[in-house]
Amino acid sequence: MTADEKYMQEAIRLASLAAEHGNEPFGAVLVKGDEIVCTNENQIYTSSDPTAHAELGLIRKFCAGTGITDLREYTLYSSCEPCFMCSGALVWMKLGRLVYGASDLDLGKILNTQGSECSRTVFEQSFWKPEVTEGVLRQESIAVLESYFENHEKG
Ligand SMILES: [Zn+2]
Repeated sequence: MTADEKYMQEAIRLASLAAEHGNEPFGAVLVKGDEIVCTNENQIYTSSDPTAHAELGLIRKFCAGTGITDLREYTLYSSCEPCFMCSGALVWMKLGRLVYGASDLDLGKILNTQGSECSRTVFEQSFWKPEVTEGVLRQESIAVLESYFENHEKG
């Protein structure tokens, strides 16, 4: 198992936990060097905050807790491609590298919606472009999304 797969496995585990906790199945892990420095899961329902996505919540938690706001030396692992809002936030924190499992197009197929290349679109139009690796443990990530959205509407 590669390092990317190891951290993605943790992001996917957090995605499953989020669903167990009554939220949507998305998880995120922040890594510097070979150390996990912050993790977070989706909390949109338990916090009654439609913006409480795994990635955005992680950024708020990590930056507020450490005072660090420039993350060019960090890698964010997200179980699913960050949405437009979260991708925008990754620009503002100058993230060094983004790794995700399922894409938004994969999610769109599961939800019977269009989906889009959100992170690519945001980064292409922005002053800051994180390095991107997509599709790490993609099938595992899709499986978690499918099992949840079989029985739930998207919030
Ligand atoms: Zn988001």
